[in-house]
Amino acid sequence: MTEIELVQAIKNAKKAYYEGSPTISDKEYDALEEALKAINPTHPILATVGHPPSSTRVKATHIIPMGSLQKIHTQEDFDSWVERAPDNDLVLQWKMDGSSISIEYSDSHFVRAITRGDGSEGEDISDNVPLMSGFQKVIQDFTGAVRCEVMMDKDTFEKLNDCLPEEDRYENTRMAAAGISRRLDGLYSNQLHLFAYDLSTDGPLKETDKLLLLKNMGFDTPEQWIGPPEFIKKAFKGLSEIRPTLRYSIDGAVVKIDDYDVQQALGWVDGRPKGQVAWKFEPPGAITQFIKETWDVGRTGVVTPLAHLEPVRIDGSTISKATLHNVAQIKRLGIGYGDTVMLTKRGDIIPAIEEVLEHKGKPIEIPTQCPACQSTLDNDGVRLFCRNDHCHGKTFYRILNWIKVAKIDGFGESLAAALRDLCCLNEIQDIYRLNGLISQLPGWGLNSEEKIIGKIQDSKTMSAEVFLTALGIPGLSTKTAEDLLKAFKTLDGVRKASYDDVMALKGFAQISAYKVVDGLMKFSQEIDALLKIVTIASKAQGKLSGKTFCFTGAMSQPRSVYQGLVTKHGGQNLSGVTKDLNYLVCNEDNGSSKSQKAAKLGTRIISEKDFLDMVGEESTQQPAMEMPSLFELEP
Ligand SMILES: [Zn+2]
Repeated sequence: MTEIELVQAIKNAKKAYYEGSPTISDKEYDALEEALKAINPTHPILATVGHPPSSTRVKATHIIPMGSLQKIHTQEDFDSWVERAPDNDLVLQWKMDGSSISIEYSDSHFVRAITRGDGSEGEDISDNVPLMSGFQKVIQDFTGAVRCEVMMDKDTFEKLNDCLPEEDRYENTRMAAAGISRRLDGLYSNQLHLFAYDLSTDGPLKETDKLLLLKNMGFDTPEQWIGPPEFIKKAFKGLSEIRPTLRYSIDGAVVKIDDYDVQQALGWVDGRPKGQVAWKFEPPGAITQFIKETWDVGRTGVVTPLAHLEPVRIDGSTISKATLHNVAQIKRLGIGYGDTVMLTKRGDIIPAIEEVLEHKGKPIEIPTQCPACQSTLDNDGVRLFCRNDHCHGKTFYRILNWIKVAKIDGFGESLAAALRDLCCLNEIQDIYRLNGLISQLPGWGLNSEEKIIGKIQDSKTMSAEVFLTALGIPGLSTKTAEDLLKAFKTLDGVRKASYDDVMALKGFAQISAYKVVDGLMKFSQEIDALLKIVTIASKAQGKLSGKTFCFTGAMSQPRSVYQGLVTKHGGQNLSGVTKDLNYLVCNEDNGSSKSQKAAKLGTRIISEKDFLDMVGEESTQQPAMEMPSLFELEP
């Protein structure tokens, strides 16, 4: 590649990465940077980190630029780095794989929080950061900046993705942290956790003392080890071994010379301190054979390729399938049948094919017809789309969505697939025509059928919000359904709303307004048919009718779960504390601005358990995760 091509490729990759849909692996990205460095080591793009901030949030300039560290990959790299300043004690800290931010304080008080952005300018996310656990609002006698990594733990990540519609799911914990912390509606920020790793100081401070100071300020900090280089090497090896068992994703270790004066004497290169390096793990991977691909059409019509592989062990589990992401990825890999491929588990969770090591067979042919309905596919160069609204591939996922949203417990995907294969489940309405069919399936009896039919009968009465969400129309989430019903009063009112009416509502972008109005129109026959089966419960029938709720602070399940319960029982969710709010739900009197305001307004503050008792539901998941309480230093 020429210099210009390399710069463009780096820019594109950065943009895609920070928008949450990376097009190349970390390793390939590093290779691009290395190649550019070989041609033009002083190119300014090499000194920038991240991508310029997007325009949706207010931009803010860092008081101290957020630099990056030189990366190393091997023991040899480490040895040659150590030679710069041998015989010093080194500190090894977790390199947390989240989103870096800077939190600024003035005269002991929180002022603002800024994303890393391009290192000198980021986005102001001061509204969301105080919702994150581990946040400190007041730090006695401190003025300056604290560097933190915003993290989501692996369990929370999986639970959250389970609750999100397919098109909104996050690919890994890092993207969840980066995406959620920049959300304009503050949703899910309370599922994020802050780890502080550095701060601005007036005088010289050892690295170990910095972490101690941060701990005393009340912050959680990454684990660290201190010792001579040989010990640090062993610590790194040990860390890479225990990595899969950690609650948070880490992608390596940061190694720093502990002594301030030695670090200062070494100075900087390309804006990077010579006294510190980021030692990256090789992602857990394995070599195997690609057998074939299959294509699956999702609820929104995106057709995605899945690779079938010779089974291979990675990190203690056997992998026989991996994502191929999209058409662009297949082209980039140039993958063919029987090829030897390198497989890794990205972000420790999702297996992906990183590269083809040996080409053997003829390349994958990109389909032109939908694997489910055979209609011609749209190919935008990156992804394939089935545009047939009544494609049975898409409909199957809409049926699953209905089962999930209408809470027909016990009706799993495998049962749905078995019924579909018998042509008994072709549209949502068919769920209500299954009497006598389930018990004929192998492994099912009359008793188990009776249980499921009971649940199906229960689901015949639902709120208008649940009905709209259950339809599985792209862009129609619980929150949008609520907003629409608030504005247009009834289900009928929502169905009659025009594109302009919806566009005029706060929080609706052009695309989402179009998707919703268009979807309601396209599925109008189906909606009419469903309304003959389902009774829409009026608000007065719900346990929570006429009551308003707002959730804040750490909860044992994602907030959307509780918001769904409010809707299910006829109540209404509010995003902030106003005089219209009846209940603020939070697990501890955490002194947050929301609970202070609620106390001032005389709003009732109840716990998660009080709330669940109120609706008569039990928490089905594990009790609260051991997250530290919020705002511990609140005066
Ligand atoms: Zn189709």
